[in-house]
Amino acid sequence: MKTIGMIGGMSWESTLPYYRLVNETVRDTLGGLHSARVLLHSVDFHQIEALQHAGDWDAAGEAMAEAARALHAGGADFIVLCTNTMHKVADAITGATPLPLLHIADATADALAAAGIARVGLLGTRFTMEQDFYRARLQARGFEVLVPEEEDRGQVHRIIYDELCQGVIRDDARATYRQVMARLAAAGAQGIILGCTEISLLVDQTDADVPLFDTTTLHARAAALHALAA
Ligand code: GLU
Repeated sequence: MKTIGMIGGMSWESTLPYYRLVNETVRDTLGGLHSARVLLHSVDFHQIEALQHAGDWDAAGEAMAEAARALHAGGADFIVLCTNTMHKVADAITGATPLPLLHIADATADALAAAGIARVGLLGTRFTMEQDFYRARLQARGFEVLVPEEEDRGQVHRIIYDELCQGVIRDDARATYRQVMARLAAAGAQGIILGCTEISLLVDQTDADVPLFDTTTLHARAAALHALAA
């Protein structure tokens, strides 16, 4: 079994399910007492969030490169970055070590393709919803990507940082997400990507009328299966 090198802590609230999911997948695949081989490098999100909102992506990328180098030195076989947003600096990570990066958008695209989805809604931070690093990767795989209107994007982003990343789960936020997802479905989305690793702490499939694609679950499962592959 390969050793998964996780870069987590962005936020740690969503790194916890990653750890559980990779272990559950290995157990379900191999049975018995089998569990995942994992190295976790967990950062102080206060520092990373400040760099994100200051637009200092070079420094944020260097922080991720440093984490990747530590995982490489520790014996990881590949890198799993436990957040969608920070894939904006994926190149800084792949450039830092010879280790492959298992990209979260690729795991998601595989699931969309398997489900026969062509037009998909995307929820995430403003960075993920509005910039190209994530959407373009999906579009390159042939998917049409819809994002919420400006006001909805603001709400979705605010709830991620002010509530979900701080472990605050509120009914009014769930109601907001339900409405945003309903509007995406009405606009033609055949499915919706929960493209921020904390969103599945707030909503589940019962909150939407179209299939939801939770990036945390899809990415963690793909990581475990990659670790088990020959
Ligand atoms: N975990 C979130 C994501 O998947 C947001 C926090 C971050 O900016 O890293 O995008």
